[in-house]
Amino acid sequence: MTDSQNSSKIYRIAVLAGDGIGPEVMSEAVRVLDKVSADSDFSVSYDERLVGGAALDVTQVPLPPDTLAACEAADAILFGSVGGPKWESLPPDLQPERGALLPLRKHFGLFANLRPSVCFPSLTHASPVKQSAVEGGFNVLCVRELTGGLYFGTPKGIEIRDGEEVAIDTMVYSKSEIARIAHVAFTAAMGRGKKLTSIDKANVLQNGILWRRTVEEVAKDYPEVELKHLYVDNAAMQLIVRPKDFDVVLAENLFGDILSDEMAMIAGSLGMLASASLGAGKGDGLYFGMYEPSGGSAPDIAGQGIANPSAQILSVAMMLRYSFGEHAAADRIEGAVRKAIDEGFRTGDIFRGREAETKVGTVAFGDAVLERL
Ligand code: NAD
Repeated sequence: MTDSQNSSKIYRIAVLAGDGIGPEVMSEAVRVLDKVSADSDFSVSYDERLVGGAALDVTQVPLPPDTLAACEAADAILFGSVGGPKWESLPPDLQPERGALLPLRKHFGLFANLRPSVCFPSLTHASPVKQSAVEGGFNVLCVRELTGGLYFGTPKGIEIRDGEEVAIDTMVYSKSEIARIAHVAFTAAMGRGKKLTSIDKANVLQNGILWRRTVEEVAKDYPEVELKHLYVDNAAMQLIVRPKDFDVVLAENLFGDILSDEMAMIAGSLGMLASASLGAGKGDGLYFGMYEPSGGSAPDIAGQGIANPSAQILSVAMMLRYSFGEHAAADRIEGAVRKAIDEGFRTGDIFRGREAETKVGTVAFGDAVLERL
């Protein structure tokens, strides 16, 4: 364990870099956090542990007990990414993603998934949608319920009825589950553009009716936030046509899974996108959470020093914001990444050979961010 400096507030962070590009991008994220904490009235301590394939190679399990214990003792988890061809033929429960990520989510009751879909003004050409729709960039936060709904409801299974196979999945949401995720989304909206679009299918699903009614009740606690509702099919279209009009988008598990991937695609560059999975509330709108890039371990470019560290660095900013309430420090990091991009620094995934673009590797991009903090 290492301490970055002495100060009254110390945040303990479990650092699980994982596999592939994980360790490369994590080093840059830690350098950035070290610099920001050195200039702030808080300090951080890191407890670095093995996870995923890296843990399998040493301990034969993807989530060793000491890694889980370090996460339990921490104030937040900073996660890299796990997986790769080397471990793909293992039994499902031993595979890095299934054997490490899912148990971590379950163990810590991480019920809220936050995925910002950010398209910087200088990177709009990377977006596959019409330039007129994304000109000037956009910043949409997708808040997805992660532990309920169709993915977990029972009964569930495939059985024989009237001589043929029938598949059954059940969508179940309790009012308290809906209210809990709605509070996360409204709190996030309060710290951003104060606009919330809640997604449902209230014209067809009973779940949608309870969802909409509950979100409207929770909205009374946040009178400053402008609330709108959209049916999910319409939302899928509107997000492509006018992403700039959205601020926070709230959806249940299945709808959020699909819409957050759609929004990641519209943003154009996977290596830029961070995510947070939040669990128990700590009060004051803060949560225990696990913070990680939206992308995977990118085995195709691992070890070459060319991965884009932005998503991992921006995961640190999300951790500062949602687990520690250090909004000024989070703003500083987000601003520095944006400045580095605006000034033309590009890792290979976002380099297009345009004038004013400088192609750099992982560490040089980290340097560019550090210099702009
Ligand atoms: P991936 O996200 O790892 O890669 C998809 C493409 O995006 C690749 O071409 C990759 O080079 C590129 N890419 C991703 N992140 C990048 C970055 N930071 N900089 C530059 N380019 C980047 O998805 P995949 O190829 O489907 O999966 C690879 C492995 O990652 C698999 O083993 C998969 O199971 C695992 N995975 C892990 C997580 C996780 O740990 N949360 C998530 C998704 C996939």
